[in-house]
Amino acid sequence: MSDTILKAEGLKKHFHLGGGFMAETKLVRAVDGVSIEVRRGETFAIVGESGCGKSTLARLLMRLLEPTEGAIEFEGRDIAGIRGRDLRELRRDMQFVFQDPFSSLNPRMSVGKLVGEPIETHRPGLSRAQRRQEVARLLSTVGLRPEHADRYPHEFSGGQRQRIGIARALASNPRLVIGDEPVSALDVSVQAQVVNLLHDLKSELDMTLVIIAHDLAVIRHMSDRVAVMYLGQVVESGPTDEIFANPRHPYTMALLSAIPEAAHGRARTRLALSGETPSPAAPPSGCRFHTRCPFAREDCATRIPELGAATQESRVACHYWQEIAADRPAAGLTPAAGLSEGAQRRFALYEAATQATTPNPRTAANAEA
Ligand code: SF4
Repeated sequence: MSDTILKAEGLKKHFHLGGGFMAETKLVRAVDGVSIEVRRGETFAIVGESGCGKSTLARLLMRLLEPTEGAIEFEGRDIAGIRGRDLRELRRDMQFVFQDPFSSLNPRMSVGKLVGEPIETHRPGLSRAQRRQEVARLLSTVGLRPEHADRYPHEFSGGQRQRIGIARALASNPRLVIGDEPVSALDVSVQAQVVNLLHDLKSELDMTLVIIAHDLAVIRHMSDRVAVMYLGQVVESGPTDEIFANPRHPYTMALLSAIPEAAHGRARTRLALSGETPSPAAPPSGCRFHTRCPFAREDCATRIPELGAATQESRVACHYWQEIAADRPAAGLTPAAGLSEGAQRRFALYEAATQATTPNPRTAANAEA
């Protein structure tokens, strides 16, 4: 069986916006030529600021959106253009965990129905009693109790609702789960439990996970490899440990310098970015990052950098990454503003969640009730 479970090649999603009476339409390049490969059994993270196109990319990979251009393969099969029954079968093998556990669950359905519905759809051979048993098993798997099946979503906390969403996603025995910022809508005190739960389930159930996140502290402890996105394109990718220890793209350096030092294991000069992220409707010419890059040279505004190999495992899209790495101490990095109290607290929680002494995230869910 191939090592690659999911692959995208030159994937694009462009939206036409506006276009009222006498108004011009705008072409928004939300995803603009992304190529990634996700390996079987790994946790692959896609990170970037909001508006970088990472959630659109997740929806393209899941075929919740039609690509404008490019190829998507799941287990070696082209899925970019599939429809009908083929698409329904794909939904069984690839599942999605939504960002917002409050709006993604139908408030009029009991938890038993919410989790039972995908079982009925994807495993129609099960009897009613077997389905009930399966719902109870899935609820236990995500740290809830079988009797929770009779309750309704509003009776649960945010963390527990996300666990219900995860149980729903697991109901079809998927081989790959894509989580679109699965903890960002949760209270900071339960984020680490849900992160840990996903991490544990991936190993226990032999799944592959793709996690979309804007917070690098979230992915530090749970992902094997990472792709960093900026304005619809991947600017750096590689093993998470390598990228945290030695970021090569100035944008990755800036993202990393915004989280506490303990998150990447060693002291680092902080790199402050100037200006706002440009609009994907009018991306800068040349290197899209040149308007904010402290290392930009004249030709960066006209020459487009390719995502090329930096090491056997890592790729970077910057003309000058080698010079930047060599000159780093003298590069004139400016100190970023101090970390917020919330960022410090959040990181401390992720750290705690990965310690052996941390309570099991499943029993912690019941304590939330
Ligand atoms: Fe900065 Fe130029 Fe590299 Fe782009 S190509 S990241 S502008 S140095």
